[in-house]
Amino acid sequence: NRKITIAELPKAQLTTEHFRLENAEMPVPAKGEVLLRTILMSIDAANRSWMQGATYRDAVKVGDTMPTYAICEVVESRSPHVAIGDIVATESVWADYVTRPGDGVDKLPDARPLSHLMSVYGIAGKTAFHGLINVGRPTAGETVVVSAAAGSVGGFVGQIAKALGCRVVGIAGGPEKCARVVDELGFDACVDYREPGLFKALRTACPDGIDVYFDNVGGQILETAVFQMNTRGRIVCCGAISQYDTDQITGPRNLPGLVVVKRLRMEGFIVMDFADQDAPALRALRQWVEAGQIKINEDIVEGLENAPKALIGLLAGDNIGKRMVRVGPD
Ligand code: NDP
Repeated sequence: NRKITIAELPKAQLTTEHFRLENAEMPVPAKGEVLLRTILMSIDAANRSWMQGATYRDAVKVGDTMPTYAICEVVESRSPHVAIGDIVATESVWADYVTRPGDGVDKLPDARPLSHLMSVYGIAGKTAFHGLINVGRPTAGETVVVSAAAGSVGGFVGQIAKALGCRVVGIAGGPEKCARVVDELGFDACVDYREPGLFKALRTACPDGIDVYFDNVGGQILETAVFQMNTRGRIVCCGAISQYDTDQITGPRNLPGLVVVKRLRMEGFIVMDFADQDAPALRALRQWVEAGQIKINEDIVEGLENAPKALIGLLAGDNIGKRMVRVGPD
């Protein structure tokens, strides 16, 4: 059994030096617990934000094994809730094997590939759905802008908004990502924020202004979007990845003034807030996938030992679609 712990907390940019790969004892399940073999681990920008301090969960400390959301197979069960061979989703850690309370894991349908249960039918798809539908509340014909558009949540947000009949504009880093967002995901336009002149490029892509801005990044991109919001526009605060891996915290400027004058609603959410609506969300996502309106983009990195690099790369934008680490076979 192996695990990856935090060797040191980053003060600025995350590097592999901040992690340690360790050999660990094989955990033994107590009464009521299960022994799980990790199959897939979700790699999230949030992993980095937990290293900054307490968020909606406890801060990650030196010596901790990095927390993660994982899909696992039950290999030993001392719980009446799950049996050997069951596939479950659980809060877990970066390790080959873990023990968990049997009543604390979610049994998943045995639907292959399991990676889809981590992307479109997992946190990414649910975050996109709940954030856009319940917080952004777009209507057909409105302009929806989403940042980190070639990423996991952003790619689903744009495709859902398209399925709802909105005009959809992405913001992403680099010409290759922008081309894929338009050509493969069907966005109406995509603006490259790494090029100078973001304000003008966004204005050109959104001639009628922005009705819903789904913000995955915060910072200067949020500031640019706020200036172009229409009256009674909605800003969905999903994440602030531009602020996680740096000691340079930026913008947005003049936020209160613009929120007042434009009567904006700016609202944050955490995907779990809408857990009671997961079932209809998953049904809708499945229908759009089956109708070809949502393409599933996944970015799978092989091997537990590569989890630190996978996270560092995600923060640098080297992923397209939902990044996860495969620790073992389906
Ligand atoms: P993504 O797959 O979108 O990957 C992150 C992307 O962010 C990168 O590919 C990169 O794309 C972009 N990025 C990195 N740095 C910057 C920067 N400085 N400025 C602009 N873009 C940047 O990750 P997720 O889909 O997992 O997460 C997207 C957001 O959603 C995150 O902020 C995350 O914290 C949030 N989230 C929130 C949840 C909630 O419940 N509220 C649940 C899950 C995720 P590029 O090359 O385009 O820069």
